Amino acid sequence: MELLHDPELDRFRQEIRAFIAEVLPPEMKARQRTKIMNNATIADQQEWMRILNRHGRAVAHWPVEHGGCGWTPQQLFIFNEELYAADAPEFDWGGTHMLGPVLYTFGSPAQREHFMPMIRNGETYWAQGFSEPGSGSDLASLRTSAELQGDKYIVNGQKIWTSGAAHARWGFFLVRTDKNVKPQRGISFLIINMDSPGVTVRQIPQINGEAHLCEVFLDNVEVPADQLVGEPGMGWTYAKFLLEHERTTSSFIYWSKRELDRAKEIARGETVGGRRVCDDPAFRARFARVQADLLALEWSVLRVLAHEETGFPEAAAASVLKIRGSELQQEITMLQVDALGAKSLRYYEPTPDAPTPSADWPDYAPGRTTIALIARAATIYGGSKQVQKNILAKLAYGL
Ligand SMILES: Cc1cc2nc3c(=O)[nH]c(=O)nc-3n(C[C@H](O)[C@H](O)[C@H](O)COP(=O)(O)OP(=O)(O)OC[C@H]3O[C@@H](n4cnc5c(N)ncnc54)[C@H](O)[C@@H]3O)c2cc1C
Repeated sequence: MELLHDPELDRFRQEIRAFIAEVLPPEMKARQRTKIMNNATIADQQEWMRILNRHGRAVAHWPVEHGGCGWTPQQLFIFNEELYAADAPEFDWGGTHMLGPVLYTFGSPAQREHFMPMIRNGETYWAQGFSEPGSGSDLASLRTSAELQGDKYIVNGQKIWTSGAAHARWGFFLVRTDKNVKPQRGISFLIINMDSPGVTVRQIPQINGEAHLCEVFLDNVEVPADQLVGEPGMGWTYAKFLLEHERTTSSFIYWSKRELDRAKEIARGETVGGRRVCDDPAFRARFARVQADLLALEWSVLRVLAHEETGFPEAAAASVLKIRGSELQQEITMLQVDALGAKSLRYYEPTPDAPTPSADWPDYAPGRTTIALIARAATIYGGSKQVQKNILAKLAYGL
């Protein structure tokens, strides 16, 4: 299966590479190299969305009638791969890959008209308000309530682990609109303006020094009823659609390929006892195993994209990609940290403003420990590893 060595796709890759080189501002590329989340890099994400939007490429994966590029899954794969390889800012995944598809599939014409241009143009960071204290893996038990009073919902409750909420002007939330039916049937999908009276956001200091995760408190928040997406009570269905929509994104494949290249760069640049780290047999063996595993994962992603018969239901394949992708993310970041040795402990603390690495450092060094620590969370968010294994056991093996 030579999916990516098709001359047409090679030409497409060259075109995308040239496009990114032309439009990605060099100072943005330099800031994004560490992959640390702070005020400057989040502002970059929004500016990058505006740049891509000017070229009609902000939401390449959406249907053409909503601003997509009409590319094949293989072309989209190449587009994402090249963005990561070039150190372009991340998409605002909440808007582009989660809310967007829900809106163009289930949203009202007015909701599409209002919110979709905002997403395309990076006008706000979008918070995903699903998890609550006690309702993470068991999401259907969520308690945040939304009571219809006239033409408004009155929302009360608490969300937790809401990524980027301190930067978000808008969020999409799962709320309970009916307590008298089966838990899944009583949940609705509501868009909330984070500046509304009664919304309080508290940042959570993280082990890696960032404070990107937040608690969100909702006290008698008034939300216009027309911000409920689709039908009341269908929020669970939309959330599942959203989580399964990007079947291959959860593999982190583009990210991991970029970071494995960086691990190689570090191993070539660092020495121990006069020998380059990349010449150490133990390091080489470890690197080779991770590289082989990553290649296997990439081929699995390509098989899913090509709709090749895997013998597994699609949701089970998504769980496999999530498990292997998140494990590899952790292994690759630890390769970087180990190749840097003691230098990795001298990482600077990420600050809310742009960090300035020491001038005498090689530019591959800053932020590696910070990223390795947040990679520990990769096997938790988006459905924990244990929960993915449960899904796999049920769907793939009928257990
Ligand atoms: C970095 C990060 C970013 C996040 N961003 C967001 C966000 O933007 N929006 C949002 O809504 N949420 C977000 N989350 C929350 C995330 O979705 C939850 O952490 C996740 O669903 C797990 O829920 P929990 O933390 O409540 O753990 P729990 O569900 O309490 O799980 C605790 C442990 O028990 C295990 N476990 C639970 N149930 C089972 C079971 N049935 N069988 C076997 N083992 C089980 C889990 O695997 C885990 O190891 C984020 C989390 C992290 C770490």
